[in-house]
Amino acid sequence: MPTPFPWMSEELAALESAGLRRARLVVRPFADGACEIEGRRLWNFAGNDYLGLAGDPRVVAAAQAALAESGVGARASALVAGRSEWHARLEQTLAAFEGQEAAILFPTGYAANVGIIAALVDEHDVVFCDRLNHASLIDGCRLSGAKLRVFRHSELETLERELHKAAEARRRLIVTDAVFSMDGDVAPLRELCDLAERFQADLLVDEAHGTGVFGEQGRGVCESLDVESRVAVRVGTLSKAIGTLGGFVAGRQSLVDWLWNKARTQVFSTALSPAICAAATTAVEIIRSEPDRRAKLWRNCEFVRQELDAVLRPSESSAVRDSDQAVLLRLQYGRSVGPIIPILLGDPDAAVAAQRKLEDRGCLVAAIRSPTVPQGTSRLRISLSAAHDESALQTLVGALQEVLSVS
Ligand SMILES: *Cc1c(COP(=O)(O)O)cnc(C)c1O
Repeated sequence: MPTPFPWMSEELAALESAGLRRARLVVRPFADGACEIEGRRLWNFAGNDYLGLAGDPRVVAAAQAALAESGVGARASALVAGRSEWHARLEQTLAAFEGQEAAILFPTGYAANVGIIAALVDEHDVVFCDRLNHASLIDGCRLSGAKLRVFRHSELETLERELHKAAEARRRLIVTDAVFSMDGDVAPLRELCDLAERFQADLLVDEAHGTGVFGEQGRGVCESLDVESRVAVRVGTLSKAIGTLGGFVAGRQSLVDWLWNKARTQVFSTALSPAICAAATTAVEIIRSEPDRRAKLWRNCEFVRQELDAVLRPSESSAVRDSDQAVLLRLQYGRSVGPIIPILLGDPDAAVAAQRKLEDRGCLVAAIRSPTVPQGTSRLRISLSAAHDESALQTLVGALQEVLSVS
């Protein structure tokens, strides 16, 4: 019998030689922001558990109680028989947290974006997508069948031009990350709202890295920029600051009803585990009642940035001294706000080598390569958490100062 997929080993070898083949780790996570890899204890700066809720004893206990009562799996999709009281309570909690009429859950944030966009636009419509949007938004745009207009990152003039050209389309939908997941910068949401209103378009904002982190109440970047009422759809994930798993939309009853009927990634997938719903409900309640966690996260961000600024922030003199490439890389760092800190190294092998050196110094930091980021922009991506204490942050800063100054 011929070997199936004869091209595959060659293609894998090509990835390998380009420095782009992915290896997988076994990571043992701990509640204190550390983890263990191959017997080594490292501080984990590669996760998205921004508020340290994934291992919070109260969140764990909520999951355990639901497990004891209802078992592990939901047994069916939500519309058939999978929606338990735990699901209903989480929907209510999310709607109340977001100040909205209703909420709907999805298996993941990825599935939420794909299902929602495909439920809102089709081939009669045009969808406008920032080039650096998360893959799930891009995949949702593609799957929807709508005409796709990709604009350069946060370039409003290009978007405006494209909106102008699409005036005849049935519907126009602009989709954007609130916080760009690999760059840590924030979308110009006010300006996007202005454009959406001018061109009778709807704006969908993915708050995956905004929820729990940005805004006075932790509702995300839409809250902090005061555009909540102007944004047509806000998508959230339970898997980052909320520390569990799943995606959600909180919004008007009509939108939520529409998605219950039309979002195929929700309709045709098994409901979340009741234990996950119970855990997420408790996590959201903690986010509401303990704003100090968010304050601690921001103090951590401020500390690390202050220490790194000396090495990384572009200055007048460094612009003269450095090659253009180096200046660009520093600028990218300078645009990030909050817990995601990108350190662009350009070359994939350089990013992986830097990651190894940081591991040797006690820190797990993600090396991010194409296709997650555009070619030539491989980077270290640091993500900070309220779970990190001072010794974790000191270890990180010391390790980065050594590794970046020798590379
Ligand atoms: C992580 C992420 C998602 C996907 O969320 P999951 O719940 O992990 O599937 C969607 N959008 C953005 C911007 C993300 O960073």
